[in-house]
Amino acid sequence: MSETPAALVTGGSRGIGRAICLALGRMGWNVAVNYARRVDAAEEVVAAIEAAGASAAALQGDIADASDRERMIQQAIDRFGRLDLLVNNAAMGSPNRTDVLELSGDDWDAVFATNLKGPFFLSQLAARRMIKLIGAGKMRGGKIINISSISAYAASTNRAEYCMAKAALHMMTQVFALRLAEERIQVFEVSPGVIRTDMTAGVAEKYGAMIDAGLTPIRRWGEPEDIAAAVEAIVSDRFPFSTGQRFDVDGGFHIRSF
Ligand code: NAP
Repeated sequence: MSETPAALVTGGSRGIGRAICLALGRMGWNVAVNYARRVDAAEEVVAAIEAAGASAAALQGDIADASDRERMIQQAIDRFGRLDLLVNNAAMGSPNRTDVLELSGDDWDAVFATNLKGPFFLSQLAARRMIKLIGAGKMRGGKIINISSISAYAASTNRAEYCMAKAALHMMTQVFALRLAEERIQVFEVSPGVIRTDMTAGVAEKYGAMIDAGLTPIRRWGEPEDIAAAVEAIVSDRFPFSTGQRFDVDGGFHIRSF
């Protein structure tokens, strides 16, 4: 059995996924860095991981595509011999931020295919392979981490499809955690608040003003490294008797007060 654990991180080329890949690389993991279009960005992440002494591979694939999902899981296992961790990080924002009364079927389909169907079926494929690898003595256990959002419970009328897909990802975490507990596979949700990435670049001024006005008890932007630190803690096996847990990494946004 290879002694080095291996991870597949979807959307590992930029933003939060990139920070997660770099953190795993620093921990000495083998990392499959999935990307959709930005091969340059994915290769920069691979180079940074390899410069730190770990192994990495850029894996192109659209998580919304069934054959790409199968190929990516296979390629990751072919390359590293095991799959200890799947991080379902890749997602798209609301394409048009239209009012819920004007939301189109096309926008619905695109967001649900990428943000929910992709993570669901990748988890299913990964879990089946993890169970076999654990049974064959190639790994002691496995983990799946879903990157959700404060939008899973904080409603926005101009991003209904994004909010609803993230809300479903929360339940998906519970269902897989329940099913996989006896298989030695833990499933977690990490829920970011407002994080400084390309996804929020277009609304940076608006969100910056909201943060300054007290949107979050901790009054600063979240950084991709804040999310990576939570993933690092989970992966370090500091929560051996937990599963299905939601980790809020949001500057305290989730606290209700009056
Ligand atoms: P980002 O900066 O927009 O990066 C998106 C990443 O996902 C890129 O690596 C992109 O690959 C990849 N990607 C997009 N569609 C894909 C697809 N169909 N197949 C494979 N890869 C795909 O996003 P982010 O801000 O880091 O967000 C990461 C996660 O955190 C998402 O789940 C997001 O919903 C969640 N989140 C973000 C925030 C925030 O404030 N930023 C807040 C809450 C939750 P390419 O480089 O090839 O385009």
